[in-house]
Amino acid sequence: MLALDVSGLKMQFPGLAAPVLSIDRFHLPPGGRLAITGASGSGKSTFVNAITGLEDVRDGSVSWSGTEITRLSAGRRDAFRARNIGLVMQDFHLFPGLSAFENVVLPIKLTRRLAASERERALYLLAVTGIARPQQKIETLSRGEMQRVAVARALLSRPGVIVADEPTASLDRQAGNEVAELLLQLSAEEGTTLIVVTHDTALAARLGRRINLASGRIEEDSQEVAAQ
Ligand code: ADP
Ligand code: MG
Repeated sequence: MLALDVSGLKMQFPGLAAPVLSIDRFHLPPGGRLAITGASGSGKSTFVNAITGLEDVRDGSVSWSGTEITRLSAGRRDAFRARNIGLVMQDFHLFPGLSAFENVVLPIKLTRRLAASERERALYLLAVTGIARPQQKIETLSRGEMQRVAVARALLSRPGVIVADEPTASLDRQAGNEVAELLLQLSAEEGTTLIVVTHDTALAARLGRRINLASGRIEEDSQEVAAQ
């Protein structure tokens, strides 16, 4: 489980006068569950990319349980993410031509040999995510199955946090509900912190805490509303 601390974070893009993201202070305790909502263009993905180190942060700091990733070199930041953060994206980021199993283990196989225990865990995760035939080519699966493979991949290295950016947005309602259910269930079982960007109000409600972004700022934090 990882805690997240953000302070003085500003994200700016060339040619845009105002920062697209501006977060003074934000804390999520270890094991916390968070929904991020907000209109299209409000800065949700920029926030996700900043806290996962996918995007370079020049202004402000992002720490995970004391490790300030914004001070790490790009290489060390990538290594930190690979070890600690399970990512699930709206458009899956899977590799055609490879099987479901091969997609799950690819991040490890790019850097080293797969351990027998990792092979077993990959097969276990594919089983619990409901992928009946792990050797099936990824492009022959349904979109819902593809996202479930991506969830299995995100969990393989036992990350301390799962970050999902609109994981159900490109799925039909039933497939989306199945993926949401899996994220909730598996993150609880594995004891990970869970952060989900979503427009699904039912899913957001089940995560407990919700922040709503507007023009790059936290316009509402359900925790602060509750504390008032
Ligand atoms: P959301 O995920 O909430 O839809 P984004 O974080 O993707 O919003 O985008 C926030 C704002 O930043 C938008 O106005 C978008 O056009 C702008 N933006 C995002 N990425 C870039 C980029 N690489 N270069 C320039 N502008 C960007
Ligand atoms: Mg987005």
